Amino acid sequence: MGTGNHFMPTQEKTGVRPTESGVRPLETDYEFSESRLEATGFIFHGNVPSPSEKKSAVKANSNLLHFARCPKLEKVSDQQTKIWFRSIKLAVSHLNELLGGQRWKWCKLCEREVTQRILDEI
Ligand SMILES: [Zn+2]
Repeated sequence: MGTGNHFMPTQEKTGVRPTESGVRPLETDYEFSESRLEATGFIFHGNVPSPSEKKSAVKANSNLLHFARCPKLEKVSDQQTKIWFRSIKLAVSHLNELLGGQRWKWCKLCEREVTQRILDEI
């Protein structure tokens, strides 16, 4: 107690809890390529710690969020965890809960476009 752990994810959120239908783990290469073909929504890839691992072991540089159509997704290793999201809001809240807010990034290529999309969605 009293170690300055000021950020704790909570179950209580303002507004509606995201439905699972907007978040889809991509467990096979087939699902991954299907999502890329559809080119809607957003795809995260990276190294998600298992519950027994510390979140602090995760490096933000290896956890990236892209537009589903981003060409950089071509090079993603099949060892990595991949998750599809319907919207930016879902992606951000899910990733912040899963990894912590400082432990993932937007892909550089996608980032510029994203800024405008966030403004549109909010
Ligand atoms: Zn990208």
